[in-house]
Amino acid sequence: MSVKENCQKIEERILKACQRSGRKREEVVLLAASKTQPVEKILQAYYCGIRYFGENRVQEGIEKIEALKDYKDIHWHLIGGLQTNKVKYAVKYFEMIHSIDREELVDEIEKRASKMNKIQEGLIEVNFGEESKYGVKEENLKKLFEYILTKEHIKILGLMAIPPYFENPEDVRPFFRKLRQLKEDLEKDFNVKLPHLSMGMSHDFEVAIEEGATIVRIGTALFGERI
Ligand SMILES: *Cc1c(COP(=O)(O)O)cnc(C)c1O
Repeated sequence: MSVKENCQKIEERILKACQRSGRKREEVVLLAASKTQPVEKILQAYYCGIRYFGENRVQEGIEKIEALKDYKDIHWHLIGGLQTNKVKYAVKYFEMIHSIDREELVDEIEKRASKMNKIQEGLIEVNFGEESKYGVKEENLKKLFEYILTKEHIKILGLMAIPPYFENPEDVRPFFRKLRQLKEDLEKDFNVKLPHLSMGMSHDFEVAIEEGATIVRIGTALFGERI
């Protein structure tokens, strides 16, 4: 199946999930997880109307961002784990970083963003167990959030997670619900608004939308299996 056909199918499924849960389609961003995909495939997704792309590796992302720099309405997000020695480039090239998860990384982002006179948008990645080596543990989330609030050049817009994989997407629901709860707790404790929940991937994005996702990160269902 072509990217275009996949894209149309995903669109329908997103729309239905929104309708089921009484949400508006505009509340959910379809972000194409384009790691390992060539520029030609990214363009196929672009011509279906997708404007948000998520890359996992800084270097691979930069190559595509450079190659597509004439497409000025593309929003590039960094969704993979970030090493401190890559922060300089991440801040230069990416609109949003989904994987902020430790103070050392926060310090480096603040330093680089400050030098570039940029306010870096980001999400805090929460770790729900063995599936991902990235993310802050639930019990340390509040402390990390409080720490970031002291930084002038980082704006946290919400939370992101990669929950454990389950055959049945229904089994992921409690993790999505938990992430939403953690976000609402932060909003209440710190009297702030956090508009984003980045959760849901190819096999579970509908459940994620039902539980409040505002960004779904979809790779395989859109592009096919990664090579
Ligand atoms: C690859 C990736 C995705 C997309 O995964 P699929 O299962 O292919 O949809 C989403 N989020 C992150 C962080 C990823 O690395």
